[in-house]
Amino acid sequence: MSKRDYYEVLGVSRSAGDGEIKSAYRKLAMKCHPDKNPGDKDAEEKFKEAAEAYSVLADANKRSAYDRFGHAAVSGAAGGGGFDPNVFAEFDFSDILGNMFGFGDLFGGRRRGGPQRGADLRYDLEIPFEESARGAETTIQIPRQENCEACQGSGAAPGSSPSTCPQCRGQGQVRFQQGFFTVARTCPQCRGAGKIVSKPCQTCRGAGRVTKDRKITVKIPAGIATGQQLRLQHEGEAGSAGGPAGHLYVVIHVQEHEFFRRDGINLFCEIPVNFTTLALGGDIQVPTLDGSESVKVSEGTQTGTTLRLRGKGMPDVNGRGRGDLFATVQVQTPKKLTREQRKLVEQLADVLPKEKFEPRARGEREEDERNLFDRVKDMFG
Ligand SMILES: [Zn+2]
Ligand SMILES: [Zn+2]
Repeated sequence: MSKRDYYEVLGVSRSAGDGEIKSAYRKLAMKCHPDKNPGDKDAEEKFKEAAEAYSVLADANKRSAYDRFGHAAVSGAAGGGGFDPNVFAEFDFSDILGNMFGFGDLFGGRRRGGPQRGADLRYDLEIPFEESARGAETTIQIPRQENCEACQGSGAAPGSSPSTCPQCRGQGQVRFQQGFFTVARTCPQCRGAGKIVSKPCQTCRGAGRVTKDRKITVKIPAGIATGQQLRLQHEGEAGSAGGPAGHLYVVIHVQEHEFFRRDGINLFCEIPVNFTTLALGGDIQVPTLDGSESVKVSEGTQTGTTLRLRGKGMPDVNGRGRGDLFATVQVQTPKKLTREQRKLVEQLADVLPKEKFEPRARGEREEDERNLFDRVKDMFG
């Protein structure tokens, strides 16, 4: 079976730089990862193929040999190289996919003794509508794993220190030959830590970490919407062996407003207005996020008319201005009238022309809106 060209496998040109090769591999590896495609042999093959291509193209010596002599130069037992399982150690997959999704330790052969990034945490935060509009600062409390202060995360009792694992000599993994491949396995004695604690710290019982309830201040930017998340860098769980802490993701849920409905950066609402105001014209009070605003309606305004208040909508979360407020006027019929009011309305009713349905003037849309009844009438009319 002929092997595919390594550049073709990664989908990069022959002149691609290291960064481009790395990111092409990263993308492929994530897409074809066996954990994301369980039981998919094709994806698994592609995943291995990409790893092999990367192991060669990422190594300057192997790459130049491959450029000159092709696959023969870098494959097989004679040339060494080939599929190197350690190539995975190049990437911290937990960083890409997030520990919270359970991708923490995909590769048994990963060098676990080295610095590792802590797990990401997620916190769901419900905020009132007003806070999403104005922005806010709030404090949340989360339990998280932190480095033990008594032993500074080493797990060894104060005064003692962990010793290097004799079996793997601190590597965290042991290698052995299997056919043409060198296979790396997590060291059984230190379980990948590379170090052995003989006198465990009493505070954390040797774990190096303790769970703490931490209060964290969260700044909520004005304009944030439900489903958006804030990333608080390095506020997740502590890393190990000097690795950085994970991130804390605060997922925002905005409570509904009793009056305003939000769509993007625009706000919508309905305003009840007396018939008299709409008939005579005048000022009506429209509530906005910044307080009530006086808006003029002209004489003879119909119910259902929408007024647009520019710049009175939600702020853009990235600071690019504000949306508009659309207020739809709804005529309000009084539910109860006093005797006097009733008399006046009756007088008005006497002088107003009686309602009668008049077909609309012939317009462009009339054709579309004619119903079946109209069409039948035409046919026999
Ligand atoms: Zn400790
Ligand atoms: Zn070991």
